[in-house]
Amino acid sequence: MQKLDELYAGKAKSVFTTDDENLLILEFRDDTSAFDGEKIVQLDRKGMVNNKFNAFIMQKLEAAGIPTHFEKLLSDNEALVKKLDMIAVECVVRNISTGSMVKRLGVEDGLTLNPPTFEFFLKNDALHDPMINDYHIRSFGWASEDEVATMKRLTFQVNDILKKLFDDAGLLLVDYKLEFGRYQGELVLGDEFTPDGCRLWDKETREKMDKDRFRQDLGDVVESYEAVARRLGVDL
Ligand code: 5GP
Repeated sequence: MQKLDELYAGKAKSVFTTDDENLLILEFRDDTSAFDGEKIVQLDRKGMVNNKFNAFIMQKLEAAGIPTHFEKLLSDNEALVKKLDMIAVECVVRNISTGSMVKRLGVEDGLTLNPPTFEFFLKNDALHDPMINDYHIRSFGWASEDEVATMKRLTFQVNDILKKLFDDAGLLLVDYKLEFGRYQGELVLGDEFTPDGCRLWDKETREKMDKDRFRQDLGDVVESYEAVARRLGVDL
């Protein structure tokens, strides 16, 4: 597999073409960003930890029947993935109220949500990823009615799989963001699943072990990601 040109540089990952037109290489960098890229810092080992964390989770999801773009780990910081036609919306499931939901709705922080709730956001940093609904997605043609239904179904299926996985490791899966894309007529989970895009709290102490440590300047960001990885049994 030959790594060719850089196709795109995101806030924490870079995407490269390969000599196979159906495959891309994701490079997880040490960059850590928050607030739509306003705060960016380099954190040692973060790219490696997230790459291996993501590989572990994607393989668990694939084994449980979720189609994902993940093919294989290539190195400490690189993974081989299918080239998807990405849908520019974010799918968020919340098991516990916190973050933007608390600011937006004025609800109490830390409430268990039964049932878990689902939100769509438009991927647009300049607009600060505004919340959108099913009709925006369909009316503007960002995805079809079937694709909207499939994104919701798969995102909730991921919740069932990962809530249990994290619970067994003594962690609460508070909320998370997924992104999907099209691959040969099928909707497939893309992007990444790492502590950068989910919230994980210790089950006993409710200590934050995710990117909120960076957003809120709590320190020990990568150390917390590594602690989560160790609890799950990720080979770092
Ligand atoms: P909130 O809407 O509370 O800011 O985020 C809800 C969940 O989705 C959190 O786990 C958060 O990390 C994730 N999330 C929302 N938007 C983004 C985003 O643009 N990038 C990343 N990496 N995660 C996001």
